[in-house]
Amino acid sequence: AGAGSAEAAESRILVFVRLRPMSRKEKEAGSRSCVKIVNKKEVYLTEFASEDDYLRLKRVRGRHFCFDSAFADSTNQREVYTTSTANLVEGVLQGRNGTVFCYGATGAGKTYTMLGTIENPGVMVLAIKDLFSKVRQRSHDGNHSIQLSYLEIYNETVRDLLSPGRPLHLREDKQGTVAAGLTQYRAYSTDEVMELLQQGNKNRTTEPTRVNETSSRSHAILQVVVEYRYMDGVNMVTRVGKLSLIDLAGSERALATDQRTQRSIEGANINRSLLALSSCIHSLVEGKKHIPYRNSKLTQLLKDSLGGSCNTVMIANISPSNLSFGETQNTLHWADRAK
Ligand code: ADP
Ligand code: MG
Repeated sequence: AGAGSAEAAESRILVFVRLRPMSRKEKEAGSRSCVKIVNKKEVYLTEFASEDDYLRLKRVRGRHFCFDSAFADSTNQREVYTTSTANLVEGVLQGRNGTVFCYGATGAGKTYTMLGTIENPGVMVLAIKDLFSKVRQRSHDGNHSIQLSYLEIYNETVRDLLSPGRPLHLREDKQGTVAAGLTQYRAYSTDEVMELLQQGNKNRTTEPTRVNETSSRSHAILQVVVEYRYMDGVNMVTRVGKLSLIDLAGSERALATDQRTQRSIEGANINRSLLALSSCIHSLVEGKKHIPYRNSKLTQLLKDSLGGSCNTVMIANISPSNLSFGETQNTLHWADRAK
């Protein structure tokens, strides 16, 4: 649908792919690149080694995908933010909810894209920075407040990342489903935010069996609520918009179990929230009336931020290495179905 078709544009999910650079570890393992990005939106996945093989055989055995944008490994954080999320920030200021997910296998670059580093802050930090600067530009005619919350879902248990402690219960509220007792952090500047989020990220649950792997099964959800109050004649008007930024759990297990027999599904540890999110997205994309939000904590929490008149963006993260070929293929297929 073109820009003129507001109706169609409303329910569409924008899907992006981000390729990360080859890591030192991958290079040392002798891996080669199996992904090529062309025209800033096409992704070629190939099992072949050389450029010659690639050119000769891509039509035969390689797979080809096309997305709203595909970011090559040289793409910087700001470009990713500007292309994928800046419009959603603008929408939130107009009172329209927006949601951005990072999807992909563990090690594919989700946390780098969402949180980033001190030197190269990611989407979460750049979005908040942008919100503050936009709010400052127009604050002469009203009052804004910006509140942050940061939580994780691990094994269908909700925890506050800004104030770790006992699990939180979900309850229904006028604004939708909320986590009872979740810290709402009133933010006044961006400087404090990066540190807050880095600290929160350290609070994510680490799997006991994979001590050096951070949080491959936990979803981290940052929600930023912008409230804008202004006088319209003699009436006080309040406009509220919510931006949800989600660093999803690694997709490798959910997908591995997806493809196995029923028996191995029972034995495996399925990530219920990730599977439920896939069902909701497919139902939305297919235009179904019933969206199964109630099947998991993640989808319950995002009920007011998915579908309908919300803006939704998916960033699928992939590694270039042929050692991750299978995971990359799964991620690209998944992203392709979310379009
Ligand atoms: P995930 O969260 O998907 O498990 P990470 O974001 O932790 O993966 O990325 C794995 C490693 O690769 C980290 O060391 C990270 O800093 C690095 N990395 C990921 N994406 C990029 C990128 N676009 N540029 C540079 N380094 C990256
Ligand atoms: Mg991560």
